[in-house]
Amino acid sequence: MSEVHKFLFEGLPVRGLLVKLTDCWQEVLKRRAANKDTGAYPPEVRALLGEMTAAAVLMQTNIKFNGALVLQIFGDGPLKLAVVEVQADLSLRATAKVVGEPNLTVAHSVDPDPQALGYQLSDWVNVRNQGKCAITLDPKDPFPGQQPYQGVVPFFDDLGAPIERFQEVLEHYMLQSEQLDTTLVLASNDDVAAGLLIQRLPSLGMGNLGGGKVLQDEDQIGLNEDFKRISILAKTLTPAELLGLAPDEVLHRLFWEERCVKLEPTVDAPALSPRFACSCSKERVSRMIQGLGEEEANSIIAERNEIEVGCEFCGRQYHYDAVDAAALFATSLVLPRPAEPDQMH
Ligand SMILES: [Zn+2]
Repeated sequence: MSEVHKFLFEGLPVRGLLVKLTDCWQEVLKRRAANKDTGAYPPEVRALLGEMTAAAVLMQTNIKFNGALVLQIFGDGPLKLAVVEVQADLSLRATAKVVGEPNLTVAHSVDPDPQALGYQLSDWVNVRNQGKCAITLDPKDPFPGQQPYQGVVPFFDDLGAPIERFQEVLEHYMLQSEQLDTTLVLASNDDVAAGLLIQRLPSLGMGNLGGGKVLQDEDQIGLNEDFKRISILAKTLTPAELLGLAPDEVLHRLFWEERCVKLEPTVDAPALSPRFACSCSKERVSRMIQGLGEEEANSIIAERNEIEVGCEFCGRQYHYDAVDAAALFATSLVLPRPAEPDQMH
């Protein structure tokens, strides 16, 4: 079963999350593989989408947003689009659009450990340094006029050098958006998508759960020695360990010399279990077809005898024949039903 664990370091302004997705991640891959039009994702896309899925669950758990957290990649290479959506209850769905294959004859400016990677962002989504990653917070109950919040980051660092690992893209984003040091370790294979997040808490104010000493100069990016030490330990975690070991073993292996305490679920903070769920529905698809307009809908019917719409996330197929389609555009013309003669007085 998929699981999320929270932990902190006693007396230190550092907290962490560990996410291990199994059944829900396998469901994402299974549904894609069952799609006769697309077939399964290439291995590199599976690796990246798995890391994105683990990261989106980590971020949603970390900020507890009442709505959907949507992590997207808009690629300038063969991976055109990748989307992971995680709701407040940690139900999730994910999809990606792949067109063609990477041109691997292009020389890489960096040469990261291929074993640890499985993909390079510059092959798949950042061929011309124009790929982007977007993080959207879409509120469940927006107040009037409230728009979703969106942050966008490129796949290059402050000096313009390409970033090859997705976890570094998000570290960059979180440092900018939350002004908090964050360390991420992500990994995925076809059975497990997993992630570890370590974050420095502001040493002043409510956020300091550890109750450590309050020093104003600690509340600055990159200066906290406790965070730096724990971050270095976290970065020693290998993909094989993150994917293969039980969560307790991961925490023990990394932090056995630290006072790392796993937080047990409480009434106020119950354990949430990530699961696969798709929010598509006949109603939404009908609205989309209405949005196409009657003329366009009729021309598709004339050509193919039906309108067929497949959900990119779950693979469900929605079918509309000529009668169904006509009904979509006739609803506004429905006349009040005349009274039956025998009911007349
Ligand atoms: Zn669906």
